[in-house]
Amino acid sequence: MYPKLIIDMKKLYSNIDAVAEIAKTRGGCDMMIVTKCLCADRKVAEMIASHPRVDYLADSRISNIKKYQDLVRAGGKQSVLMRLPQMSEIADVVEYADISFNSEMVTIEALQEEAARQGKIHKVVLMVDLGDLREGIFFENEEEILETAAKVHAMPNIELFGMGTNLTCYGAIIPKNDNLSVLCAIAEKVEQKLGITLKMVSGGNSSSIYLVDKGELPDKISNLRLGEAFLLGNDTAYGEDLPGTVGDALLCEAQIVELKTKPSLPIGEVGVDAFGQKPYYEDRGRIKRAILAIGQQDTDRDGMHPMDEKVDVLGASSDHLILDVTKSDREYKVGDTVRFTLDYGAVLRLATSEYVEREYI
Ligand SMILES: *Cc1c(COP(=O)(O)O)cnc(C)c1O
Repeated sequence: MYPKLIIDMKKLYSNIDAVAEIAKTRGGCDMMIVTKCLCADRKVAEMIASHPRVDYLADSRISNIKKYQDLVRAGGKQSVLMRLPQMSEIADVVEYADISFNSEMVTIEALQEEAARQGKIHKVVLMVDLGDLREGIFFENEEEILETAAKVHAMPNIELFGMGTNLTCYGAIIPKNDNLSVLCAIAEKVEQKLGITLKMVSGGNSSSIYLVDKGELPDKISNLRLGEAFLLGNDTAYGEDLPGTVGDALLCEAQIVELKTKPSLPIGEVGVDAFGQKPYYEDRGRIKRAILAIGQQDTDRDGMHPMDEKVDVLGASSDHLILDVTKSDREYKVGDTVRFTLDYGAVLRLATSEYVEREYI
């Protein structure tokens, strides 16, 4: 059945080896592998949980962690909730996540109360915002960070496990030695003030891994959280390919339902497209147009790159993707399938759409 997301398990496994070589062997960090982009796919989670170089499985949704917590236990790893817990999910967070990222005292108090009820110690990583302006206590409010750390440390059922930051998400701020050093300095102050050693200083996501190569990752950073890096083989700060990884571990395959020669410019008064946008057309004369049975409900057309390099994506509506196959060497016909390499946004939607099959190779 099509459309399908093709998941190459061996390539994903060796991508994890390759990013572990950078982050762990050379960078001296431990490694969280992030499962959210594939919606915590069970087979992939199984592979990650049994991979000897993975230390933590992390996700932003507790429902995903709940699905694979048995695998995490069996593999001897720990599970991490990376999105700040919602007040409505505190009981599940304590039950299924070993560690959660936090920035709000009221939430941590609720975690303490629930952990006491469940007779557990829940681990907390305190998030610091270094300027990307998503989650975390703002780095300039050092007093607030130190006070929060002290209060958390004093809680009987909460372990202050570490500190962390997230960059290149909302503000697209690139991790550098200077901003990550601010986190490290704050972590050191917390350690001195409380007389403890933090078990984790988490220095970001796939946009931080490039710093290892440049020799600029501060020594104090002891953890990286990697999603896109192992899925697509990218550093996400500058979009470079990471050494030893491949970019085609995940592919999409979709089927042609119409193939006709038509003009490249629509005829009639131009309004807005299916999503209320004013479309842009390039006049290519009469072209061979293939319509595929996949659309914006299943994928992100801008993240779909035909493996046949002589094919161009012209556009998409909810359920249709339109290609120009005029220049291809292949004689496409109705029923043929077309394969694509993918960007992160396309993988995310393909994995999320219930209309997309998954094939594991
Ligand atoms: C999604 C996410 C990650 C992983 O990001 P990648 O760019 O895929 O490596 C890491 N940390 C947090 C907090 C996240 O939300």
